[in-house]
Amino acid sequence: MDFDLTEEQRMYRRAVRDFCEGEIKPYAAQVDETGELRWEAIQKMPALGLTGLQVPEEYGGAGLDTISAAIAVEELGRACGSTALSVSAHNGLCCGPIVAWGTKAQKERYLPLLTGGQHLGSLALTEPGAGSDLAGGVTTTAVKEGDSWIIDGSKAWITNPKYAPVIITLARTDPQAGTHGFSMLLVEPQADGLTVHPPEKKMGLKGSPTQMLSYDEVRVPLDALLGEEGRGFHQTMQTLDGGRVSIGALSVGLAQAAFEAAVVYAKQRRAFGKSISEHQAIQWMIADAALEIEAARLMVYRAAWMKDQGRDFSKAAAMAKLMASEVAEKVARSAIQIHGSYGYSREFPVERIYRDQRLMTIGEGTSEIQRLVIARKVLQEF
Ligand SMILES: Cc1cc2nc3c(=O)[nH]c(=O)nc-3n(C[C@H](O)[C@H](O)[C@H](O)COP(=O)(O)OP(=O)(O)OC[C@H]3O[C@@H](n4cnc5c(N)ncnc54)[C@H](O)[C@@H]3O)c2cc1C
Repeated sequence: MDFDLTEEQRMYRRAVRDFCEGEIKPYAAQVDETGELRWEAIQKMPALGLTGLQVPEEYGGAGLDTISAAIAVEELGRACGSTALSVSAHNGLCCGPIVAWGTKAQKERYLPLLTGGQHLGSLALTEPGAGSDLAGGVTTTAVKEGDSWIIDGSKAWITNPKYAPVIITLARTDPQAGTHGFSMLLVEPQADGLTVHPPEKKMGLKGSPTQMLSYDEVRVPLDALLGEEGRGFHQTMQTLDGGRVSIGALSVGLAQAAFEAAVVYAKQRRAFGKSISEHQAIQWMIADAALEIEAARLMVYRAAWMKDQGRDFSKAAAMAKLMASEVAEKVARSAIQIHGSYGYSREFPVERIYRDQRLMTIGEGTSEIQRLVIARKVLQEF
């Protein structure tokens, strides 16, 4: 499915796939079993731009277009869900906002650190009492006092804090101002009063650390403000639009991996005197998976292309994320079905992929929230 990719994009896919085949895929089961990312591989990522996909080259990034960035995350997802999620969050949720709204000083301080292959960044939006409804539910506050902001509150389900040189934190800076009362702040993990709790014990994506954070009178300088005061909610929505393209790409990668494993297995396994791939019920699952992965991939690339064209891509991103995450779930299910008992075993990758893909319909906006975004846009358009 390369018909509309440029030669550079095709070459980049080949380079990332080769890297993933050698450094990521063979270790995916180990990452899942140990709950630790393979840092030996992450340290090699800067050479391919994977730790700074859309960061300008002057700050150590690759300065890629959004389709190339999606291809990279798709290939990582095809190799290892945990690695792909951590790298996707690092790029889209942490590097992205600093590139978009950081001052020169903030970019110079954080981007070389983030792109160097020694760290992975974080964005902390979600709280124990607020996920989908950030506007109504966020209670973390930041109050100006002298030359500092004082942050109090807690965040939950945050990807990468234990590896992050900076955690972008969404806080209410004017509790009376509704969605105009939020700001983003750059918080360094060693700040006094910040506790980074141990990783959650999750169903899948076990190598990607997901942690709770407590802020107890955490003091950061006034210039830790990222972007304009009061624009934090707007910045969050824009960041999530981009993040959804990336989660869509990751979902396509997971689906592709499950699909490939299922086709290989179906051709080897025999039942009733022939290969199971010759039974029509199996062929239909393979056909549906091939069709739906192709459709999802096209939707992801289209949303990425719209972003690069400077067009309003929030509906396209929501559609791509919704479609791709639900396709990943269906394909992973079929892949296990095709494997029979072996699919239920940790000896085969489809068991891990099934657990890993389950997050994709939840993180960066649930499927229900994507439908809400799509419906709102459609109703506005008519
Ligand atoms: C592995 C992992 C990594 C994560 N990484 C990050 C991260 O790096 N940074 C970060 O900030 N967050 C992160 N999250 C949090 C994630 O983004 C939220 O969990 C997600 O947005 C959903 O929020 P919630 O869990 O509070 O669910 P809720 O908002 O409580 O929703 C519960 C259910 O209600 C439904 N619902 C809610 N509102 C509506 C509505 N209006 N209409 C219909 N249905 C509705 C939802 O769709 C869902 O089915 C991560 C989560 C996980 C599990």
